[in-house]
Amino acid sequence: KIKLDTQQSGLQGKGDRGGDRADRATSEQVLDPRTRMLLLQMINRGIVSEIHGCLSTGKEANVYHAMSVSEDEDAAPIHRAVKVYKTSILVFKDRDNKSNNRAMVKLWAEKEMRNLRRIYATGIPCPEPLYLRLHVLAMGFIGSSKGIPAPRLKDVEFSREEAEERYRSLYIELLGYMRVMYQTCRLVHADLSEYNMLYHKKRLYIIDVSQSVEHDHPRSLEFLRMDIKNVSDFFKRKGVDTLPERALFQFIVS
Ligand code: ADP
Ligand code: MN
Repeated sequence: KIKLDTQQSGLQGKGDRGGDRADRATSEQVLDPRTRMLLLQMINRGIVSEIHGCLSTGKEANVYHAMSVSEDEDAAPIHRAVKVYKTSILVFKDRDNKSNNRAMVKLWAEKEMRNLRRIYATGIPCPEPLYLRLHVLAMGFIGSSKGIPAPRLKDVEFSREEAEERYRSLYIELLGYMRVMYQTCRLVHADLSEYNMLYHKKRLYIIDVSQSVEHDHPRSLEFLRMDIKNVSDFFKRKGVDTLPERALFQFIVS
């Protein structure tokens, strides 16, 4: 039985709560019919069984909380995250060119899937890539078994006593991830900051990798320096005695 409980996504299925599938849009976060089709397809294919509200509404994508509920009522539901790239983004110069926009967001989603796969394969904590269809990407949910999403590193609050030591060890942990990402995944994140890391089970999870670039991208080292600067600035603010940025750069690339 399919149940779509998506007030915020404007999606509703023939569930026990909801009557007929409706186009009832209950907020401004309405999905276009094509995207709704893709989400319904994903449900029919058993990737998820319910799509809930928005975890995040960004400029370029919305992230929804979804669940995979098994027939066995006693079994714990599995949480998922579904990232939907916006096909109507203002950053596109030629807004009237719909097919171009669609091609662009499809490309972003593909890149995110490909990069996540590589990162996940090396064991760096990140969402498990699960399913991709056009501009819709399903991945593992980073958060509690009750469905509470993990906070971004930016929003984490440690107690006074533990903060110093925690940030110090998270910083060290992150340096290792950056190096493995570069050396083994052959990727530079290119938007790495406290906004794109989640803190979960005392570890950092890397997210939002659609803009990550290959090693041989002409600007990859420039992006790496930016990532290093963002990370260093954040941890410095938290009182960590960080490495000089040039030393960190050398550590990552050699
Ligand atoms: P954007 O391009 O909008 O920045 P992100 O991939 O950074 O997209 O996701 C936006 C927010 O959604 C994140 O900051 C995080 O709070 C939440 N989020 C994204 N992916 C997941 C996930 N797999 N599990 C839990 N929360 C997630
Ligand atoms: Mn982000």
